[in-house]
Parts: sequence; structure tokens; C-alpha cells
Amino acid sequence: MMLKTIPHVHIETFGCQMNESDSELVRSMLKQEGFVFTEDRERADVVLVNTCAIRENAHNKIYAHLSELRALKKQRPLVVGVLGCMAQNLKSALAEKEPLIDVLAGPDTYRQLPTLLATALEDQEQGLFQKGFALDLSEYETYEGIMPDRGCGVNAWITVMRGCDNFCSFCVVPYTRGRERSRDPRSVLLEARDASTRGFRQITLLGQNVNSYRHEDWDFAKLITAVADTAGIDRVRFTSPHPKDFPSALIEAIATHPKICKHIHLPLQAGSDRILELMGRTYSGAEYLALVDRIRHTIPHVVLTTDIICGFCSESDEDFRATALMVEQAQFDSAYIFKYSERKHTIAARKYTDDVPDRVKGMRVAQLVETQRRITLERNRRYIGKAMEVLVEGDATRSPTQGMGKTDGNITVVWDKSTGHSQPGAFITKHVFDASAATLYGK
Ligand code: SF4
Repeated sequence: MMLKTIPHVHIETFGCQMNESDSELVRSMLKQEGFVFTEDRERADVVLVNTCAIRENAHNKIYAHLSELRALKKQRPLVVGVLGCMAQNLKSALAEKEPLIDVLAGPDTYRQLPTLLATALEDQEQGLFQKGFALDLSEYETYEGIMPDRGCGVNAWITVMRGCDNFCSFCVVPYTRGRERSRDPRSVLLEARDASTRGFRQITLLGQNVNSYRHEDWDFAKLITAVADTAGIDRVRFTSPHPKDFPSALIEAIATHPKICKHIHLPLQAGSDRILELMGRTYSGAEYLALVDRIRHTIPHVVLTTDIICGFCSESDEDFRATALMVEQAQFDSAYIFKYSERKHTIAARKYTDDVPDRVKGMRVAQLVETQRRITLERNRRYIGKAMEVLVEGDATRSPTQGMGKTDGNITVVWDKSTGHSQPGAFITKHVFDASAATLYGK
């Protein structure tokens, strides 16, 4: 870099854990090239926004955020970079719509960021305002050899694969994150050991469909077992598997390895076979329920969570009733329930009509949320009177006088800190005396 001063960078991350993990890679790469990170946006020479494209409201949040940056940029020199899925999906149209953007970089081009940003800063010093774009997708990039800059905490995210080959018709990920690639298990294990020596107690392995993980003779069951065997790591989680190919070896590993958490996030998306077929999910409702039975039989205390989309193209009342019935039958511990939101470039956007009125989508979401809230409450109340091992994460969001942690099944437990304070990263036992649909209350 030939800049007059050391540039300060502020990064803001929206969306999923994969984006959190990518922001850690970006921090690492930029720090190696002499950039300095600041938590204070007001001091930054560069503001990076790592974006999500999964739903329309994710886009809207980012547009609102860019408006704030526009006001800041009017007051002083500032380089604005937009990273991630929204940059990749909308490409130059995003920069045309939002002229304050200087740099656009997609999820596979972060190695180019130091050069792109240095050029943008130099241009700005010289009064030039050219835009820098890096939006190629790669079939190989896994950011091998870059140790993420994680700071400190309880949980370390480790990306084990990138991209997705499934092309579910509603999903933008194959277009924003490209084809599926698995990382070398040796580099995953190196990261796990590094996270352990830095004091992280839990690792969450990330991939769009971890069941497809393959590297030489390694599959995901072998990988997660090896990560769980890492000294100093007490819990290992993962997200997400696809219900179409959930291997028995993985169910067995979760059931038997004491450090692999008994929690599976198993996206259902819809309960109607017709809608599942339109979505390209390649399983039927009956096959999904058979998998749930197989998992519950092998891992009796497993916590099962899911994702559901309401109001996908042509979803009738009857289709919706099939989803509502599945929710009752599967008895999920919790569910993320969303309105369908058409995404540019997807198969659904090209082939189907987004014809369910927004009002109907909203009513279906509200109905399912209410059903799931009742089921979650019933399931959470089963823990009352039980002692639960909790990994302490910090203060409760709603009150600094309460501590907060997670059970092995990823259920939130809060307690009054006046009864004893524990540091984040500690394992403690809490006796559950009450439960809501969101939280267990312990003492
Ligand atoms: S499995 Fe389907 S929903 Fe999941 S990332 Fe791939 S295309 Fe998207």
C-alpha cells in the first residue's frame, strides 16, 4: 500500500453465520496487508458492509444502512465497500442504484479486497472516484491457508464447505456462493486446534449442505468426529444438513460422541409433496417424517429445529394445511418461519409466479408461528424440574442482571446473576424452574 496514512476499516455483518465467518476471513486478510480495524464507524476510512440476499427484508435492511452511510460520506472522505451475497446477486446494478458504493466484492473474491480498497483509497486521495468490482465465482476458492481473525468468545464458526449444488428453486445461494467445494480436513482441524488454544469452548461447523462434504476419503461424520476429538473443545455443532441425504453414520456420531451436540437443524421448507417438488427439495413429506423418526429413535433426547417457507408459488390452502400437519407431527423444538420472497435469478423467479397474496402469506406465517409457539412451550416445559448443563455465553439480552447460556440442544437458559456469577465459557448446572416458548429459567 502506498497510502499516506494507515487506513482504518469498520466492518458490519448482516445475515447468516456464513457471513460472520467470512467477515473474520476478511479481517484477517486486510490486517495482514496493514489495514487496522475499528469498532467505531465514525473513525473509519473504509466501511465494509457484508450483505445477505436470502429475503427481501434482508435487502431492505441493507438499503436503510447504506442511507446512513450516505449521510456520513457527505461529511468526509469515506470508502464504502459492499461484500457478500447481495453484491454478488445484484452486481453493478447495486452500485448504479447506490452511487456511494466504491467497491463491490462477492464471496469468492475476498483475496482481492486489499488491492481493491487500497486503489479506492488512493483514487479518493487524488480526487478520482472510480469503482472497483470483483464478482467472479470460483469452483475452487476455500480460503485455504487463511486463519480467520476471530477475536475472542465462546463459539468459533468454522466453514467446512462453500457453495451449493442443490439449486432449490427458491434459493439464491447457488448463484451468490457458487458451486459446492469442501475444504481439506487438515486445515479444518488446524483451525479447530487454533480456536481451542484461543479459549473457544464450542465450534460450529458451517456449510450450505454439510451432508455433501467430501474430501478424499473424508465425509462429514468423520470430519465432525475428528473436530470433536480436538483437545480443549467441549461442544461441536453444525448447520445445515439437507434432509434428502442424511447419513446414518452422522446420526450415529451425534448419538454416541459426547461432545457432538444433540441438536439438529433440519430444514423442512414445506409439508406438501407438490410444493416440495416445485421447490426441488427431492424428498416427500413422508420421507422427511421417516427421517425424523430415525433420528429420534437413535438420539432420544435430540432437539430438532427447522425452517419453513409459507406462501411459495401456487401454495393452496390444502398445501398449507399439509405443512401445518407436518409441524404437528414432527413436533419441532423450534422453527424459523418466513414468507416466501422471490429472489432474482432463481429457478422459481424464472419459472413460477409469486402468486400467493402477501396478506395470505402473512396469515399463514402467523398461524404456523402460533402453532409452533404452543409446541415449543410444551416441549420446553418438559425440562422443568430437570438439571441442565449450560455453557455460559454472557448477559441475557433483556437484562444485564441475568446470565445467559445454552444447553447442549441449543436452548437458551437464563438465570438471576445475584445467585452466582459465571464467566462466559464456563459450564454450569442450572435447575430449570420455569419455561417460556423462548427460554428456560434456571437457578
Ligand atoms: S440446499 Fe437448497 S436451500 Fe440450502 S443453500 Fe442449497 S439451494 Fe439453498
